Amino acid sequence: MKFYSISTPKHQVSFRTAVIEGLAPDRSLYFPKYIPKLDPSHLDNTSNRSFEDLAFDALWPFVEADLSRNELVDVLEKTLHFDLPLVTVGEYLSLELYHGPTLAFKDIGARFMAECLGLFNQKAQKTKKTVVLVATSGDTGGAVASGFLGVENVEVVILYPNGKISEVQELQMTTFHENIRAIAVDGSFDDCQRMVKQAFVDVELKSAIDLTSANSINVARWLPQMLYYLKTFHQLRESGEQRDIVVSVPSGNFGNLCAGLLTQQMGIPFKRFIASTNVNDTVVRYLNGADYIPKATIGTLANAMDVSDPSNFIRIQTLFREGELRKLLCGYSFTDSQTLEAIAYIDQHYGYCAEPHGAIAYLGLERDQLNTEKELGIFLETAHPIKFAAAVEQALNRTLEEPESIKALRLKTPETEQLSTYEDLKAVLLSY
Ligand SMILES: *Cc1c(COP(=O)(O)O)cnc(C)c1O
Repeated sequence: MKFYSISTPKHQVSFRTAVIEGLAPDRSLYFPKYIPKLDPSHLDNTSNRSFEDLAFDALWPFVEADLSRNELVDVLEKTLHFDLPLVTVGEYLSLELYHGPTLAFKDIGARFMAECLGLFNQKAQKTKKTVVLVATSGDTGGAVASGFLGVENVEVVILYPNGKISEVQELQMTTFHENIRAIAVDGSFDDCQRMVKQAFVDVELKSAIDLTSANSINVARWLPQMLYYLKTFHQLRESGEQRDIVVSVPSGNFGNLCAGLLTQQMGIPFKRFIASTNVNDTVVRYLNGADYIPKATIGTLANAMDVSDPSNFIRIQTLFREGELRKLLCGYSFTDSQTLEAIAYIDQHYGYCAEPHGAIAYLGLERDQLNTEKELGIFLETAHPIKFAAAVEQALNRTLEEPESIKALRLKTPETEQLSTYEDLKAVLLSY
């Protein structure tokens, strides 16, 4: 399988190159040359294919030119060492994606990419340092820091918007040290992302270091997110569920949703998807008929989704022909006060503690008015409530108990620096 640049389709590279480059030279995103189909006989009720087999089947066509079968099995094993439970919440199911090391769903993509990059580095004779540069609106930073910690010959630089992420998120990226460096940028997440994109087309940097992105734009971050949807499908099939599945995905940069749509295109029988957003609603407006026009990013309680010009939306558009997308995907956006009300409601009625992103996904199902006799609604709960404790505590009017892993972070010494311009960042990168 080759990957092509969406803006320059004749520019085609291997999985390995796509992972190492992150963005194509024309600044556009890489996209798989074709969408492989899963074997339908592995998907029906009588198949006893395990989840691990299904995960292997789905990822293999994308990586086969650059990893051996055993390497992929090994990478998947190291990536998926925690639970992805489906929990009943009223009429719906919550798919909890936050049982990984940094308590948010980005752990899977970050670990998968770190393992792949580690393998590629082992095989190559390297003269330059590999530097992983990543912009984060909150959760990516911790996941990348944890996923890449101690990976040999790889340095990690994380940019985050100063003062716009939670205390726990900040601790999760500033307390690792070793090969991990966290930098607070004066600006928004979009500003951080712009700096990252600029660094990738900087010729001077390119000759000095091997620069790699670990954002969800990287195919090695994006593709393994298919595992959540495969797991959901596999669990429901095992349980004999007959209803059509509708999945509501809390979306910011739209990588997670794009991975879900990809599994559907590969043959997993999801009926529909819902893009649930906060008031940064560019895609929701587009899905409802407006032009795609990003506005300035607005800060919200669900700050991992404070993105007004989501990078991965171009991939979603590439996946579908004009018109087809709106049949499969609808979108709804919600304000902070609706989010707080939902957190309180879900707690009161179902004894379930949701955090802002999960609550927004829940609201997406509510707004959609499913026919629950025929349709099963699943919302993705993408972070542990403690990562957004301030919002959850405000909604519930009580204090949350901290998990042990967070208590342990507080005993460490955070280390952070600050910068405001691209030139500052470039100086940091050239110092490697
Ligand atoms: C990153 C993130 C999202 C948004 O995911 P995208 O793939 O960027 O759409 C949602 N919730 C949480 C908790 C996140 O960290």
